[in-house]
Amino acid sequence: MDHFQYKHGELHAEDVALSCIAQHVGTPVYVYSAATLTRHFGLFRQALAWTDHLVCFAVKSNSNLAVLKLLGDLGAGMDVVSGGEYLRAKAAGVPGDRIVFSGVGKTIPEMRMAIEGGIRQFNLESEPEMRALSALCAGMGVEVPVAVRVNPDVDAKTHEKIATGRSDNKFGIPISRAIEVYAEAAALPGLRVVGVDVHIGSQLTDLDPFRAAYAKVADLTRALRAEGHAITRLDLGGGLGIPYRRDNSAPPLPLDYGQVIRETVGDLACEIEIEPGRNIVGNAGVLLSQVIYVKRGEDRDFLILDAAMNDLLRPAMYGAHHDIVPLIEPSVGAGVQPYDVVGPVCESGDTFRKGAELPGMAAGQLVAFRSAGAYGAVMASEYNSRPLVPEVLVQGDHFAVIRARPTYEDMLGRDSIPAWL
Ligand SMILES: *Cc1c(COP(=O)(O)O)cnc(C)c1O
Repeated sequence: MDHFQYKHGELHAEDVALSCIAQHVGTPVYVYSAATLTRHFGLFRQALAWTDHLVCFAVKSNSNLAVLKLLGDLGAGMDVVSGGEYLRAKAAGVPGDRIVFSGVGKTIPEMRMAIEGGIRQFNLESEPEMRALSALCAGMGVEVPVAVRVNPDVDAKTHEKIATGRSDNKFGIPISRAIEVYAEAAALPGLRVVGVDVHIGSQLTDLDPFRAAYAKVADLTRALRAEGHAITRLDLGGGLGIPYRRDNSAPPLPLDYGQVIRETVGDLACEIEIEPGRNIVGNAGVLLSQVIYVKRGEDRDFLILDAAMNDLLRPAMYGAHHDIVPLIEPSVGAGVQPYDVVGPVCESGDTFRKGAELPGMAAGQLVAFRSAGAYGAVMASEYNSRPLVPEVLVQGDHFAVIRARPTYEDMLGRDSIPAWL
């Protein structure tokens, strides 16, 4: 459930009419609902209420400081994958001991930054990285908590670009070599082995791959303990999917997911960390856009919007579906017609949907892309020199711009022309 509903014939975010935001901030613009973020975060906490846990929000899904602050104030930890994300989490007021650092290519400066600022744990993804972190820590005279990300070789049954738990993916170390790698980690200076980490992919709509992966983690944990490692934490990653189509059967709920965790690793007396991103923020955001033109093609009509692939990349990148709805509620029984919904960028890939069924649309009307809160704004660019899309947060009956649209002056001012040209 989210807080984007039609009220008095107009789509609202909580108690704010989205048309009002479009009028004040312009379009395209991302709009997030604080109540929805709070609700979704609460569902994960509830799902793990049976044990010691930390819900670490995957910052890469939405890294706006206001979103991080809201979740951090609710008690969320953060899962970061770069120095920039680490600094964002800190700037949002999240203490270092609630930040876990994941990612396949952490650099020495990034690792140093996290050690100096405080870190809950590094999730190590390879032996060279493990040795580099050990050397860094030894040089700094510190010891840091680490988990090793294992690749359990399970098929997450999701889009190939967001599957990460198969042996042919670049992530983690093969689970078959884990015992050996943990032995080296324990022997290296500067590292304190505390846990096991796994993340098998994103937008999973079936619990079976989680069950298979977590069962392997449980077996590994027992084997590592038998080798003398004090495993006290399990980081089980993120990946629980969300409904992208309102008319479709829904993926499992956080509560069901928590049950799978309990059944697979619940008897190990470990603190449980999870790293949901999409499930917390995906349906807590929409992208608003205005129709620029309705163009009659040979055999179809094109709805040309002021939002484009540079603002919302998922359809072009993954063939992803987003429901597109008019801000004015269609009257009951109103007819629909098919439109190819496109943006103005000079790429055929800049097509959001072919044959979208919408009521008759005219230039100037407003639409919302639903489920756009995760992997939306964070993947936006200024391709075609289109200003970076702004972001707005709604709470109750008020809203605030949480990232302003740059001016053309801002954009041009970032380049410089060398004196020798
Ligand atoms: C992307 C990612 C997540 C979050 O995935 P969601 O599908 O957004 O929940 C969590 N952990 C790691 C290591 C990731 O790479």
